[in-house]
Amino acid sequence: MIREAILGIGIAVTVFCGYLGVNVLPFTLLIGLLFGISVLVEKRGTVSAGHREQAASQQVEFDNIGGQETAKRELMEALDFLRHRDKIRSLGIRPLKGILLTGPPGTGKTLMAKAAATYTDSVFVSASGSEFVEMYVGVGASRVRELFKKARYLAKKEGKDSAIVFIDEIDVIGGKRGGGQGHQEYDQTLNQLLTEMDGMQTTSNPLVLVIAATNRVDILDPALLRPGRFDRQIKVDLPDKEGRLHILRIQTRSKPIADDVDLEMIAKETYGFSGAQLESLTNEAAILALREDKTKIETRHFRDAVDKVLLGEKTGKRPSPEELHRVAVHELGHAIASEAVRPGSVAHITIAPRGNALGFVRQVPHHDAYLYTKDQLEGQMKVALAGAVAEELIFGNRSTGASNDFQQASNLARTLVTCGLSGLGIVDAENLQQSVLDEEIRRILAEIEKRTQELLSPYKTGIEQLSKRLVEEESMSGESFREWFKQQQTGQLALA
Ligand code: ADP
Ligand code: MG
Ligand code: ZN
Repeated sequence: MIREAILGIGIAVTVFCGYLGVNVLPFTLLIGLLFGISVLVEKRGTVSAGHREQAASQQVEFDNIGGQETAKRELMEALDFLRHRDKIRSLGIRPLKGILLTGPPGTGKTLMAKAAATYTDSVFVSASGSEFVEMYVGVGASRVRELFKKARYLAKKEGKDSAIVFIDEIDVIGGKRGGGQGHQEYDQTLNQLLTEMDGMQTTSNPLVLVIAATNRVDILDPALLRPGRFDRQIKVDLPDKEGRLHILRIQTRSKPIADDVDLEMIAKETYGFSGAQLESLTNEAAILALREDKTKIETRHFRDAVDKVLLGEKTGKRPSPEELHRVAVHELGHAIASEAVRPGSVAHITIAPRGNALGFVRQVPHHDAYLYTKDQLEGQMKVALAGAVAEELIFGNRSTGASNDFQQASNLARTLVTCGLSGLGIVDAENLQQSVLDEEIRRILAEIEKRTQELLSPYKTGIEQLSKRLVEEESMSGESFREWFKQQQTGQLALA
């Protein structure tokens, strides 16, 4: 405010003096100085307070949050305590003071807290646990006090009768007290928070509700979870397929996407992605479209964006033509095995180096499976070994590029043994002799390797041809690969 005034008056005076022919330089310098100081002061004001309030322009509504239907419903139910406070009071119900949102990063906990403020027409102030931790004892505690004071002040100022205080990463200050690494500063901060919460009254105006978020609920001090504190816990988990689709729809609302883009397919292919990763995915896709000067975001932009979010930016690595050819053969081995074991499972094949990988076959994940059968585990082993087996088939030798694959395959073999699905029958995994286990894993891997060779050998000529195309085109969609794969299969039938 002051800043704009100084600037406005300053410019007016300068222009006027300049018009009169007065030397304006000293004036300009003075105004510049004043302006600089005001910026600094304003900055310090917010930094030292160490917390933020929500501007009206960035209000979040529950409709902007995708998936999380259960969490949203539970939270809204809890918030009705705030919305119908008279009824609650007349029934003598103890008010809700704290809600704890738990779940992995990027699932929308902060969004939920903001939406809660909008839903209940409360002011919103927030701080993160790590902001309370300073070298000087007592600073954290006084910041907590300030935060609550600010919440009450803002509510009064804006004429609202409730406030939501959001504390992110509460585990930083709310870890178990006196648990060996008992740090006085953390203890004082936590105590102050508990004091604030205990002091809150149903009758007080404004009513303050604390919402905290953590992905480490297991390390929280039990004192925080007692009745009258954070006695409501709401899980905010990674979204399932429907949830991912919903989030993708929300995140692409304001983006021009091409007609053939199938968000449902993308939701299917992004198993394990958090809301934040999906947001980043849509953003990356838009950037890729921009780079190509396209007006709409196309399927292949989304595809590359998924790879990027999973594996990182394309690296500057420039493999030699021979290496590229080998990588292409290797990846096609994985892809053929994948499609043979589980039709429809190849989502994208690429030989553009990203992160640590020189190439990559992205699979459509199993739909949220919790149990695997022996067949499925063996199938996954084949897919893992098929890269090296394809290299062997085409070049007669292997490279160092398959060490991860081998590790994955032996982990799968180990699972097979310890779950009683191997030739050893039911075993007691804990008392199994290491040498016996190793021997059985080796036996399984050798057997699966043989079966993978049998699987790939009919495709020798096909791999030779297709690998050249892959080197030229750098990547290939699951659909084009499947088209090729079907032709190969009918070709083989005709020969037989
Ligand atoms: P958290 O607090 O759980 O770490 P955030 O709420 O900060 O996650 O989410 C970060 C960003 O990710 C949000 O600003 C939003 O763009 C996106 N996002 C995360 N979860 C969702 C969701 N469920 N629906 C829509 N967008 C989401
Ligand atoms: Mg957050
Ligand atoms: Zn591989």
